Amino acid sequence: MKQELHARVKDQTRRALEQAPPSFQADMLTEECAELILALRHLSRGKVGLRAVIEELADVEIMINTYKEMLGLNDSIEYENIIVQKLDKWDNQLDPE
Ligand SMILES: [Mg+2]
Repeated sequence: MKQELHARVKDQTRRALEQAPPSFQADMLTEECAELILALRHLSRGKVGLRAVIEELADVEIMINTYKEMLGLNDSIEYENIIVQKLDKWDNQLDPE
């Protein structure tokens, strides 16, 4: 992500967390995930185009970043380690190159 965009995301995330309680952030993340699921279903049935899926991906990414910021995970080594563990597990399920 470009530095300027990253700074904007961080600033808006901070303001969102000041203005709405954690339960609201959880509700928004849940809703955006549901909208992404629905967009993917509709794409597979030809009811929407790829653009609709991309927009929902952006919404989910924004809310994931907000939720991670709320939990203090955006610069967390522990969180990074969990990502590495998950990638290792996935890597073991893939055929070697
Ligand atoms: Mg959405």
